[in-house]
Amino acid sequence: MTREAIMDTVSSWQIEGNSNMHEINKSEAAIPINDIVTMAKSCRHYAMCKIDFLGTGVCASGLEKQYVSFYPEGRMDLYAALVDKAIPVTEKCMEITESCNLCGKCDYQCYFVSEMRPSKVMKALKDHLRNYLKRGGTVVQTKEDKILAEMKGIVGDFWATNDLAIRISYHHDLCPHVIFKLPEYVVMPNSREEISAVVKLLNSHGVPYVVRGNGASSHGLVFSEGAVLDLNRMKTIEFDEKSWSVKVGPGVAAFTVQSEARKRGYRVHTAEPAALICANIMTSGLLSTFSTTYGISADNFVNAEFVSKNGSFFNLNDIDAPNLFSSNNSRADHGALASCVSVSMKLHPVTDDEEGVLVPFEALDAALDFARNCAVRHIGLSIGILGGEFVSTFLAPTKSLAAVAKDIFTRKLGMPYIVLFIGDKYALRSVRDMGHPVIDQKLFATLSHGLTALNSAKWLDLLGELSDGEPFSYLRLSHFGELAELALAPSPAQLTQDIDPDLRSFFEELYSRAEMTDLIWLNTFRIQSSRYCRENPCVAFVCYLPINNVLIAEIQGGLRAIAAGHHLKDEFGFITPIDSGKRCVWEYDYYFNHHDPDELARIRQATHEAGALLDEYSEKTGTIRQVRYVVNQGCCRKENLLYL
Ligand SMILES: Cc1cc2nc3c(=O)[nH]c(=O)nc-3n(C[C@H](O)[C@H](O)[C@H](O)COP(=O)(O)OP(=O)(O)OC[C@H]3O[C@@H](n4cnc5c(N)ncnc54)[C@H](O)[C@@H]3O)c2cc1C
Ligand code: SF4
Repeated sequence: MTREAIMDTVSSWQIEGNSNMHEINKSEAAIPINDIVTMAKSCRHYAMCKIDFLGTGVCASGLEKQYVSFYPEGRMDLYAALVDKAIPVTEKCMEITESCNLCGKCDYQCYFVSEMRPSKVMKALKDHLRNYLKRGGTVVQTKEDKILAEMKGIVGDFWATNDLAIRISYHHDLCPHVIFKLPEYVVMPNSREEISAVVKLLNSHGVPYVVRGNGASSHGLVFSEGAVLDLNRMKTIEFDEKSWSVKVGPGVAAFTVQSEARKRGYRVHTAEPAALICANIMTSGLLSTFSTTYGISADNFVNAEFVSKNGSFFNLNDIDAPNLFSSNNSRADHGALASCVSVSMKLHPVTDDEEGVLVPFEALDAALDFARNCAVRHIGLSIGILGGEFVSTFLAPTKSLAAVAKDIFTRKLGMPYIVLFIGDKYALRSVRDMGHPVIDQKLFATLSHGLTALNSAKWLDLLGELSDGEPFSYLRLSHFGELAELALAPSPAQLTQDIDPDLRSFFEELYSRAEMTDLIWLNTFRIQSSRYCRENPCVAFVCYLPINNVLIAEIQGGLRAIAAGHHLKDEFGFITPIDSGKRCVWEYDYYFNHHDPDELARIRQATHEAGALLDEYSEKTGTIRQVRYVVNQGCCRKENLLYL
């Protein structure tokens, strides 16, 4: 690229930006650069800006050019790296910056999850490069080597690169306790044959590699000093309704396949919406509140196809296939055994009488008894005990409202634990027969839209007047829903009053959609769950263990004491019963401010101690399985994982 051509391109950025940005970004000059850099360094890497979960469409350049650097997520990393002078300005850097048209779609998506405005960073990136070039800065041309040339021969010129502007967005996540690696190459194969050829090529040169989905595992799993194989181009979806299965390629995200399944009247078992299905199966075996019914690991799928480490093909139904159904609960690091190139997921029928309710509890003990009782009796479809942190961050569109909501749910309403329960009319009838007062779907919608008024004297007085000594008995009153509506005056406008003014009308329309207060939709598509790291990221401890109230209380006490000793915020995440109520999966979280070096040191130490505590209990009981030791074994039989 000549200098004249570069300057022509750069001057066009200004014009494009001004014509496309939505209101707030037209007067961005006043934002302190440090705030922009901090935002860029706060990207959670959960890839929510790579899926169309709000119906706004996805970053057009990302969809076209596919490398992470062409999405808001990657541009956040790129900008931070340029400001820190960690990488030079390269040709791809120019292309990535130019390809952003400042449409602002990412603001809606990222604000929904993290309350951040990536378009401010995108604009700062353009300004940064313009100023750099005006000052006479040069654009570095990246030299191609022999391996890269051969890789390009396999996947096509555009789909393999060693340009630092691409590599940088495959280099880290926010995990506090791993050493990150900058890959030499990033390659995006588009078929199993191309993966096989790339794997053989890398093997022949002794270059290590890792396969990557959307990189949202967030625990340092997708980094390599050699090559990263980003499988996002492989987005095939083939339904086989007569066999109740859908075969997806390794580039298909949970949200996409769930949306397609829904159109056909089915549900697929998915968890985080931006997680790629094959990756999720491989990593953790895919678990969610629906695991109570749909299971975990090999319960989820019919078959899966792989490219082995030597480049050959196999599928799990081959009699000679490597035994990926086995499980090795050892403390060694387990890399991916093979690259998954398709998985055929089970299609679950959906009945038209499914309903969601929330069952509140004053203590974990009672919530555990309820959840276990339902699971043992096979009552219900999806069961999850949620703590006050999850409930409030999921429901509240902003951090400040989440803090208020948490206090209301846990202290003022006396509901520190709430069981999310989804079932058909027979299951719901059973829950009522068990004598539990519930927040039904209609009341849930009222509480969601009336969240900001939950703190009002009118509402709290109403509860005081209607309570008769038995916890939550007011929920049984037939007219309680109407009274709640009168007291809270719920509306999408009320819920969104805290949101940045220029985004408010969009969010008001969004929260007026029926799905946004539909417990079934929200739990099936899970678009709110990654909000739990909106304030700060966390280290999640996830384990399988028997639903033993005493054991759980004891371990929780130990985890709390460790966090308190290191002055870290810690929270109960969720518990879902599995395996017919014999066991559960439990997440407990330690939060940390990744901008604070002292806090980073403390979270590392706390994570180490908490890991040792869980190891101790695992040895003592013989029945606890920590997910960190079975990562990349997600195809295993549940029985091999839990019983052996
Ligand atoms: C907020 C949040 C909540 C979460 N909650 C849950 C939850 O409830 N349940 C749950 O199951 N998970 C949960 N996760 C974990 C996460 O969804 C999974 O780790 C998932 O795998 C991430 O998908 P990804 O496409 O980003 O995978 P990546 O991070 O890209 O990859 C994860 C691992 O899979 C390997 N891999 C990727 N693709 C392939 C492939 N095609 N073949 C072989 N190996 C491959 C990678 O090498 C890596 O080891 C959560 C994550 C976040 C951020
Ligand atoms: S939605 Fe925001 S925080 Fe999440 S990956 Fe995209 S830019 Fe980063």
